[in-house]
Amino acid sequence: IFVSFEGGDGAGKSTQISLLADWFTRAGHEVVVGHEPGGTEMGQTLRQLVLHGEDMSPRTEALLYAADRAHHASTVIRPALERGAVMITDRYLDSSVAYQGGGRDLSADDVEGLSLWATQGLLPHVTILLDLDPVVGVGRVGRSLDRLESAGAEFHERTRQAYLGRAAAHPDRIVVVDAAGSVEEVHAKVVAAVAERLAL
Ligand code: C5P
Repeated sequence: IFVSFEGGDGAGKSTQISLLADWFTRAGHEVVVGHEPGGTEMGQTLRQLVLHGEDMSPRTEALLYAADRAHHASTVIRPALERGAVMITDRYLDSSVAYQGGGRDLSADDVEGLSLWATQGLLPHVTILLDLDPVVGVGRVGRSLDRLESAGAEFHERTRQAYLGRAAAHPDRIVVVDAAGSVEEVHAKVVAAVAERLAL
């Protein structure tokens, strides 16, 4: 079972992922939790580059995310799925389509094609999009913002709209969950969505 979480900064992805991981563990599954960018040792180097690189062109940024994803998919995600574990990842290809496509204005089809090439077409069974007003999300982050988090309200709004457009185009895979509620309320919605999509 392969689940990805998507959404803007401060939407609550890490909190919801750890609650869902516990839920699967209690049901007797082995669970592997990953994240992008930077879910592998090599990915950490790529993450530093992409978060702190000055004067980075949008295409360079897109390629670094794709490289990070290629390595994560081949060394963590595929092996976990092959041994029957539940794989949950904090961000996957929809992040690239939303941020580099919507946010940075690259062609969404190109960015998606790049990701599909990088992962050899590996797609999640279900993607939870935690949707939240980016103004609320950035306010929730609660630490100093990195280069991308501080990219500006318009950038984050374009990203949010790109995510929602993607969810509308892929209703079988992507479930939009309103992330404005309490941790418990959002968790209940996440579990319901996962159970329904995976017929658990
Ligand atoms: O989710 P996390 O905080 O690790 O993401 C790091 C930063 O990279 C965030 O500011 C996020 O908005 C940004 N990002 C991006 N493009 C992606 C993935 C993440 O701009 N494809």
